[in-house]
Amino acid sequence: MFDNLSDKLDKAFHILKGHGKITEVNVADTLKEVRRALLDADVNFKIAKDFTNRVKEKALGQDVLTNLQPGQLMVKIVKDELIELMGGEAAGINLSGNPSVILMSGLQGSGKTTFSGKLANFLKSKKSKNPLLVACDVYRPAAINQLHVVGEQLGVEVYSEAGNMNPVEIAQNAIKHAKANGFNVVIVDTAGRLAVDEEMMNEIANIHKAIQPQETLFVVDAMTGQDAVNTAKAFNDRLNFDGVILTKLDGDTRGGAAISIKSVVNKPIKFIGTGEKMDAIDVFYPNRMADRILG
Ligand code: GDP
Repeated sequence: MFDNLSDKLDKAFHILKGHGKITEVNVADTLKEVRRALLDADVNFKIAKDFTNRVKEKALGQDVLTNLQPGQLMVKIVKDELIELMGGEAAGINLSGNPSVILMSGLQGSGKTTFSGKLANFLKSKKSKNPLLVACDVYRPAAINQLHVVGEQLGVEVYSEAGNMNPVEIAQNAIKHAKANGFNVVIVDTAGRLAVDEEMMNEIANIHKAIQPQETLFVVDAMTGQDAVNTAKAFNDRLNFDGVILTKLDGDTRGGAAISIKSVVNKPIKFIGTGEKMDAIDVFYPNRMADRILG
């Protein structure tokens, strides 16, 4: 997954090999390389700096208490700190409503429609739910078609209203439809834009206000690095969303978004997308991601 980052971290830990103990000097040399590796992976400067400062404090404090080799100790501390930075425990999704309403937000092309399908499939096959998908992208007929194709493929009903240009109304009607027909989860796919703009934000904020979802999820393409983090911040300022979906982690991503998004918006990553197929979805476990980062 993050080959480049993993290699660079490995090289950084190598600096400690052959040293009998951790010292101010060899820790400083190692952490300089760790910080460089994080910056190259597109982690924001302040996050990388705070991270290495915490690791340094721990390393110098723990050395006398352990019989691990300095290199092993550093790997352990970096791993623990990475897990912490990415949110500690895995965060579930709230399915308490009847129906539970899940609102998808994010830029166009981030993978919202694909992920809506994946989530419906996951909830149906793994959680025995009866989901309804809702097409609220009223500007792009292709997007509505795309959701219908996905729904057909999965055997999941898709609610759409041809000709209705009011996404708030469509979402509200879909929830009524779900109540009347025994669907216990409603997944609302919305319109995105290529960049954050006021009109899109107003629209999604209006839908959010009208349907009061149990879960508002923000979908973002992991390949967009620091932009992913900035976009997350813009959406969170407006929607105060509940969780992040990081897509396209199967591609050539550098890892920065996975590492830093939680600490910027203080919302957990809940799922990751790892391919175009409907089963390419994983619950996000910070400890597993830390293992992958460390190679
Ligand atoms: P939307 O505009 O936000 O609804 O984005 P789409 O769901 O249409 O996705 C945009 C493109 O990204 C499509 O070609 C998807 O097949 C692709 N895509 C979505 N999720 C993933 C993923 O996890 N991995 C890869 N490789 N491609 C993805």
